[in-house]
Amino acid sequence: MSRLTVVLSQAPGKHPAKRALEESLVAALLLEPGLEVSVVPNLYDLGPDHTGRLFLESVKGDLVVLSWLYPRAAFWLLDRDGIQGHPGETRLKPPADEEDADDTPTEDRPPAIGPAGTLPDRHIYCLDLRDFNKAEPYVQEVRRIAAECRDRRQAKSAARPAVVQLGLGLMAPEPTQASAFDAQALLAPAGRRWYPVIDYNRCTNCLECLDFCLFGVYGVDSLERILVENQDQCKKGCPACSRVCPQQAIIFPEYKSAAIAGADTGAVGGLKIDLSKLFGGDVADALAMAVSERDRELVNDGREAVGAAVGLPKRQEGKPAGPKDELDKLVDDLDALGL
Ligand code: SF4
Ligand code: SF4
Repeated sequence: MSRLTVVLSQAPGKHPAKRALEESLVAALLLEPGLEVSVVPNLYDLGPDHTGRLFLESVKGDLVVLSWLYPRAAFWLLDRDGIQGHPGETRLKPPADEEDADDTPTEDRPPAIGPAGTLPDRHIYCLDLRDFNKAEPYVQEVRRIAAECRDRRQAKSAARPAVVQLGLGLMAPEPTQASAFDAQALLAPAGRRWYPVIDYNRCTNCLECLDFCLFGVYGVDSLERILVENQDQCKKGCPACSRVCPQQAIIFPEYKSAAIAGADTGAVGGLKIDLSKLFGGDVADALAMAVSERDRELVNDGREAVGAAVGLPKRQEGKPAGPKDELDKLVDDLDALGL
């Protein structure tokens, strides 16, 4: 029987309460049947050569990732690293969210370009370790996910003709054994990193981030899809381009503002969101803030500040009449309210 791979991504630093939760959770999960449990350093910090990253890349089956990141951030940073799959839906909700579920009208969003290529036939479930301060809710949810994955495998297997089943069964990839990797190397400290992560279920490939960033972080692939090409050229602590993205598709997983860090936000047009959480200030100031953050980094680099003269979003340049994006509508709504 193939086992479900569960990976716990440690918090950066040595926060005692976080370490205590990690340890009790791993201890409880190790007692659960049918799981392959591993621990890696903070997912966001794993460079391409880190053993933890190589291990994650080697996992072929369904995957559960427990991290101190918003699930959307964890999912898309894995996707960027080539660890792809269909998003697994979790039923684990922090108590505060239950009454205030995100009812963002996603159908109102313009069509997104979606992930690159064909996704492997597996699911990746990302759980946020900040939701609960005890292990039990996570253990229960992992148990539920394990059953869901098992049922899905069985349903697929039952749907195949017997002869094909046999053939595929022989070739079916088993989850990789973490024991194939050196345990110490798996947990080797990873230096802190800072880079944007794109949510391709929101990104429309408008390329405004490519125009705005003057540090060579963004590029396009052979199909001219935006990508974060040079992650480590991004300026530490700066989230400027996330403020100019019209779809709020750019995530800085460790930024202090929840929406920029990858939290799901409420309805924008309906003014349900908390503006201070979304942009770290008033929406009307977002571009000015982005320009000043970018100028600061240019000057730190010994270059000239460019202000608003370069790479400002096209939507601010007297865009002809047409369907308004959510941000434009929000500004209009605020004007109408006299805010
Ligand atoms: S600005 Fe946002 S929507 Fe446009 S290409 Fe960049 S990430 Fe995608
Ligand atoms: S935060 Fe600044 S340096 Fe980093 S990708 Fe965005 S614009 Fe470029």
